[in-house]
Amino acid sequence: MSGSDVSGKRRVYLTQNQKAEMCRLFHEAGVRAPALAATFGVGRRTVYEITGPVTDGTRAARFWRNVDSATDPDGCWVWAGCTDSAGYAPLSFNGRTDRAHRVAIMLHTGRLIPHGMFVLHSCDNPPCCNPKHLRVGTHQDNMRDMMSRNRNAFGERSGPSKLKTAEVEEILRATKVGSATCAELGVMFGVSHRSILDITCGKTWAHIPRP
Ligand SMILES: [Zn+2]
Repeated sequence: MSGSDVSGKRRVYLTQNQKAEMCRLFHEAGVRAPALAATFGVGRRTVYEITGPVTDGTRAARFWRNVDSATDPDGCWVWAGCTDSAGYAPLSFNGRTDRAHRVAIMLHTGRLIPHGMFVLHSCDNPPCCNPKHLRVGTHQDNMRDMMSRNRNAFGERSGPSKLKTAEVEEILRATKVGSATCAELGVMFGVSHRSILDITCGKTWAHIPRP
């Protein structure tokens, strides 16, 4: 059960139930960290990571009951409980709500998230609670992440945003001389047939002079 992780990072070999039980023993039964470390065969630091930084044992226990960290230590630890419409998992206790991935970072680092800071997903998977996929960042970092995601999504489904001026000129020339159909041009340039039509009828790229 114990992992000899020389880097001192969190061991991931305990099951959810073991972690929940550890939280219960620590916060409710008053068993101290050294005893728990010996019982569960982990380091003392691991005990603190699992039991939580702000002695919010209820939250820590509920967290581990909903997160499977044992099956794939490096994969996404997807929250098993309910999530909101954006895919985030709200954890409510005593009138205070936080999101599960934020709790994950707090448990991992043993510290509260500094006021105004965001917890960002490198895996772009909102219910994921693997601290390896999470980092604390500023509002600016958050916006940058969101913009790069939107840009990718836009580029995939929208033709003109992907095309360069020279390519649009080429498309206009080709349709003028009738050397290729809109469908063929779409395939050639990796955009939809509709996008080519929009270009040729001037709905998009209207600022490019027609040949
Ligand atoms: Zn992930």
